[in-house]
Amino acid sequence: MKRILLVEDERQIARMVQAYLSREGYKVEVAFDGEEGWRQFQALAPDLVILDLMLPRLHGLELARLIRGASGVPIIMLTARAEEADRVAGLELGADDYVTKPFSLRELAARVRAVLRRVEGAGSHKVIEAGPLRIDLAAREVRLAGMPVELTPTEFDLLSFFARHPGRVFTRTELLEAIQERSYASLPRTIDSHIKNLRHKIEPDPSQPTYIVTVHGVGYKFQPPREGG
Ligand code: CA
Repeated sequence: MKRILLVEDERQIARMVQAYLSREGYKVEVAFDGEEGWRQFQALAPDLVILDLMLPRLHGLELARLIRGASGVPIIMLTARAEEADRVAGLELGADDYVTKPFSLRELAARVRAVLRRVEGAGSHKVIEAGPLRIDLAAREVRLAGMPVELTPTEFDLLSFFARHPGRVFTRTELLEAIQERSYASLPRTIDSHIKNLRHKIEPDPSQPTYIVTVHGVGYKFQPPREGG
């Protein structure tokens, strides 16, 4: 039975999530503040952590940092809609996914299943494969059908950020935050030129992108090719 540590100070939410995920077949332990979360994390060595960001005693981002320093355990963040900067910081710290409050229990359970499946499939999490695209996060190397692809550091950061969060739509501002390009010159539209360059390097037909897809009026998302497609 997979063990989940839920760190959430709103007791009613915590109890509801615990009850729902228990019925889904997980063993769920709850901590109501960040320090307790850290103690329980060390004691339990859970298979997955669900982490509220606004926590008493120790902020969720601090706890995420501690956990990441100790382990590659998957982390799903619970965030409020207004916490966009924290959400991006959390993803950059290595959180695997997030759910925005208010959320449905069914949605959260689906994310839990998806993240656990992805982690099992990805082994140590250091190499991401998406169709013919292979991204080695540790070596910072990208291969397309076995051939090395030369990317700038910014292009690599952007591509690996996308690939670590397949299917999620990111705004240009979020992507700039993610690649930590905050110079005066970096307006949200600079993302467009990075993406244009990336597409020329990885897309079979850059005018009909299949990996990095434009979501009109919002931003971009990474769409891994379908299995066997
Ligand atoms: Ca909270």
